[in-house]
Amino acid sequence: MTDVFPTLRGRMEYVCLGCDARYPADSLLYTCPGCGNVFLLETIDFHKLKERSAADWRALFDARAASRITALRGVFRYYEFIAPVLDAQDIVYLGEGITPIVEAAPALRDQIGLSFAYKNDGQNPSASFKDRGMACAFSYLKWLCRRNNWEEVLTVCASTGDTSASAALYAAYVGAPLKSVVLLPAGKVTPQQLSQPLGSGATVLELPGVFDDCMKVVEHLAENYRVALLNSKNSWRILGQESYAYETAQWHDWDVVDLCLFVPVGNAGNITAIMSGFLKLHELGLVTNLPRIFGVQSEHADPVYRYYAAPALARTWQPVRVRPSVAQAAMIGNPVSFPRVRKLAERYIAAGGEKAFQIIQVREQEIMDAMLKANRHGHIACTQGGECLAGLVNALALGLVSRSERALLDATAHSLKFAGFQELYFTDAFSPEYGITPNIDLANRPEALLPRSARNELEDAAYTRKAAEAMAKLLRLSPK
Ligand SMILES: *Cc1c(COP(=O)(O)O)cnc(C)c1O
Ligand SMILES: [Zn+2]
Repeated sequence: MTDVFPTLRGRMEYVCLGCDARYPADSLLYTCPGCGNVFLLETIDFHKLKERSAADWRALFDARAASRITALRGVFRYYEFIAPVLDAQDIVYLGEGITPIVEAAPALRDQIGLSFAYKNDGQNPSASFKDRGMACAFSYLKWLCRRNNWEEVLTVCASTGDTSASAALYAAYVGAPLKSVVLLPAGKVTPQQLSQPLGSGATVLELPGVFDDCMKVVEHLAENYRVALLNSKNSWRILGQESYAYETAQWHDWDVVDLCLFVPVGNAGNITAIMSGFLKLHELGLVTNLPRIFGVQSEHADPVYRYYAAPALARTWQPVRVRPSVAQAAMIGNPVSFPRVRKLAERYIAAGGEKAFQIIQVREQEIMDAMLKANRHGHIACTQGGECLAGLVNALALGLVSRSERALLDATAHSLKFAGFQELYFTDAFSPEYGITPNIDLANRPEALLPRSARNELEDAAYTRKAAEAMAKLLRLSPK
């Protein structure tokens, strides 16, 4: 039997994508102190991983899939590829990762015209993929606090959505020395968005202004105080999110020929991580080719699409002003991880060819129609999951994907988190900026069986009979 416990360890460093400066992994850093740019984390001894054969790696990960060692149950099944600097005792496991890959319902597959599946990342503990990254970031923080004997470290984020939900959850579980603080723009957050961080006991602070003001405040805090900032520039989160790639490869028995991945792009950390994960697998020979990756953006928030739509030599980076989007978690005009995308896409294309990385644009209407269509076929896609399906439909129409390929769509959150948009669709109540008109075939609402007064007018038995008769009539049931 294979010994599943990690024996290979590695040294890690932050590498700045702006000035190439390197810093040791045991410094608590958010962005480069020299130039302010974002980092990627690098395992300096990555070459050591090549001493184990691809077959041995595969056997190890298969053995870990059956292991009950808590530290190896979640995203750290792939410990050596993610953060081999950590000690097993610090690894935080809340059931994240190893999310199900669900084949498209046959009727939906036939409608779309090729085989595809959803990877349900909404089935993570806080109901979004953000938990993959937080599991790694919090394991790192535990490790760092223990090494330094720190008695308290505040974990801070400015987020109205899934980031704060996830950060608050992990901080609540770990407890001392970590404490969670969430900073939000006062009056701009729905009760639904507040409920997860409040429920996890985070300190929730409100600031007059808009989201960007909050972001600047927490960045200022991270530059001047010992706090752990968990927003999208955090490079430890990227490592945990690479697990999506590893799981996908393992699930497909390490054969990703003809596989096309569709991923929503907001701050672009997720697509960065997935490319980085597959590049590592490819370099170590666990997969023989790279799957094609399609980033998807709404035309209401499409800076990355615009960048790559231009001819290679004419590309200039230009943030965009966003318009309201139902793919709200990806509604970002100036993605902080863009330097990471550019770097990884370059490497990805070099290894996988020009068609290995592409960005697709979709319309708001297409996102909503696709999400509802998927969910009416038994899926649990959020609006970003709908965005991926809309991207697949457009990629097919544009001839970028052929019907002999297969697709994997990232449902990044649970459909329940986005129930508000479904409600707006069903009641035709979107404000005009969205540009969404409900398709009457997809709109669904409750139907009244009897008038309100009926309950008071009839005694119980008669009421039951009358209601049953009304149902039978409406549903055209025949008596048996
Ligand atoms: C954060 C988030 C995204 C966008 O991911 P990026 O890494 O910022 O590109 C998409 N969907 C959901 C549900 C999210 O929470
Ligand atoms: Zn720098």
